[in-house]
Amino acid sequence: MSRPAAVDGARLLRSLADFAAIGATPAGGVNRQALSIEDRRARRLLAERAWGRGFSVFQDEAANLFIRREGVHVDLPPLLIGSHLDSQPTGGRFDGALGTLSAFEVLEALDDAGVSTARPVEVVAFTNEEGSRYAPGCMGSMAFAGVHAVSAWHEVMAPDGTRLEEDLAATLKALPEAVMRHARPDILAFIELHIEQGPVLERETVPIGAVTAVQGTKWLEVTFTGQAAHAGTTPREFRKDAMAAAANAIAELQATVMAADPQSRLTVGRLTLQPGSVNVIPEQVTFTIDLRHPDGAALAVLEALVRKTCAIAGERWGCTAAIGLLLDMASGVFDSTLVDAIETACRSRKIACRRMTSGAFHDALFVNRIAPSAMLFVPCRNGVSHNEAEFVEDRHVLLGAEALLELTLNLAGRRTASEN
Ligand SMILES: [Zn+2]
Repeated sequence: MSRPAAVDGARLLRSLADFAAIGATPAGGVNRQALSIEDRRARRLLAERAWGRGFSVFQDEAANLFIRREGVHVDLPPLLIGSHLDSQPTGGRFDGALGTLSAFEVLEALDDAGVSTARPVEVVAFTNEEGSRYAPGCMGSMAFAGVHAVSAWHEVMAPDGTRLEEDLAATLKALPEAVMRHARPDILAFIELHIEQGPVLERETVPIGAVTAVQGTKWLEVTFTGQAAHAGTTPREFRKDAMAAAANAIAELQATVMAADPQSRLTVGRLTLQPGSVNVIPEQVTFTIDLRHPDGAALAVLEALVRKTCAIAGERWGCTAAIGLLLDMASGVFDSTLVDAIETACRSRKIACRRMTSGAFHDALFVNRIAPSAMLFVPCRNGVSHNEAEFVEDRHVLLGAEALLELTLNLAGRRTASEN
């Protein structure tokens, strides 16, 4: 006999505290970087809890960790839910851990209630989402999605000189009881619960965000080159002032881009001047532009606008403008059926929910390339994350897990009466 599955709030909060103790920092945060001893301890704790429940535990060549609760139909592709367990060196207790542990709580809640699902449900903890010890981030999910084989990163080195290949092997070896998966199983869909890492939900007092897309990101590096000259003796018409051109371009872009489209983001985060002397007209100015938009076509239009604006500013001040592309991370639009399903799940549990885009990238962005994916966000205090002060209110932790449980039941299929 089964009864309605319910999240055990006290158990989930205890579980968050247990994992926050692994790599705990004096300031209340977490240092549990990917493939470190602490990361291995967290993976073992989760695996042991899974075995204690009779769930199966798998890992793949990227050390992604999977916990499977069997469904009635064992050969149907499973629903995948989860996030990551690694943190920044001065990270918080919730980034990644919240999504992974809430997903595990869903499995426990189903088990406690004796509820079977038609499909298997698997919890995943993707390896190295943060990219702090080994760059880039999202290695585990990229490998899972077939963007790169994990061997492509074997030679990447941690700051202490350890090669990724060594740490990867040691991490896999630290869980010898887990079954090795050499091929990626088909999955029905992937759902990732995560903290918002921004201020929108808290400001609007909405506990759940249904994420429709992850912004694309482009990093541009602009260099204006003019001519160094005396600050006192050079009249306006003789000046080839690289800083004037840069200031002109930056002011123009800051005044127009985000004002014209509230979904766009433009940040000038680094600027250097040559020769950098008080009484010399700058010969060369280099600055970066971080440009983001959820729509790939709109992002391309923004890049073209930056190029044109810089060309005009350069011409105005007798300078050349050269623009390089340092990073080009495509946006991802999540599956609309899944986004609808998040709203439906929230509605049936009477949890307020709003649609939103994600400003940061996540594992779900990569899994989305091979299977329908979507994300739920919960608010974090002042939008702060990647920070030891990161904080999520207990009630938001519980509402997030409840929404994830309802969604899991809807997607994995409640067992019908005839199957009981
Ligand atoms: Zn994260």
